[in-house]
Amino acid sequence: MSQGDGDSAAQGMVDMFDEGAGPGPVCRVCGSLVAPDELYRQAHWDWHEASNGA
Ligand SMILES: [Zn+2]
Repeated sequence: MSQGDGDSAAQGMVDMFDEGAGPGPVCRVCGSLVAPDELYRQAHWDWHEASNGA
């Protein structure tokens, strides 16, 4: 059924941001510098999920 949907999303969110590229996490998908704040990262992740790579 639901086998770790939250887990895979969290893992994907970790993979999505390059922590060592700049002063803060950089999105690997769109290259944006994201605020080093979990809420911003979650929001950015959700935005990519919603736009589905567009
Ligand atoms: Zn992005």
